[in-house]
Amino acid sequence: MSDSIDGGRRKFLKASAVTAAALPLATLLHQGTVKAKSKAEEDHAHDYVNDAADADHDRYQDGQKCSNCVFWEGEEEDGWGSCSHPSFSDVLVNAEGWCSVYAPAG
Ligand code: SF4
Repeated sequence: MSDSIDGGRRKFLKASAVTAAALPLATLLHQGTVKAKSKAEEDHAHDYVNDAADADHDRYQDGQKCSNCVFWEGEEEDGWGSCSHPSFSDVLVNAEGWCSVYAPAG
C-alpha cells in the first residue's frame, strides 16, 4: 500500500518538475515578443521612426506611413504590426511609423 502511495507521489513530483521546467521557456518566448515590439527606433534600419511626423529624411513625403506602405502586413495589436521588409523581420513596426525604404501600397 505504501508502494502505491510512493508511486503516486513520484508521478506527481515528476509532473511538477516537467511543468516547472516548461514555465521559464514560455516566459522567455513571451518576453521575446514584447522585447521585439518595443525595440528602440534608435539605430534601427533605414532611419525608421515610430511616428512618421518625426521623419527627418529627404525621401519622406507627407502622408507616408507604415500602414499605407507596400511592406505593411497589418496590425497585430495596439497599432503595431508586421513589416515584410527583411530589415524588420524581428520587430513590430508602428502603423504611424516610417522608414526610408517606404513604398506606396497598391
Ligand atoms: Fe514601415 Fe518601412 Fe516597413 Fe514600410 S518598409 S512598413 S515604411 S518599416
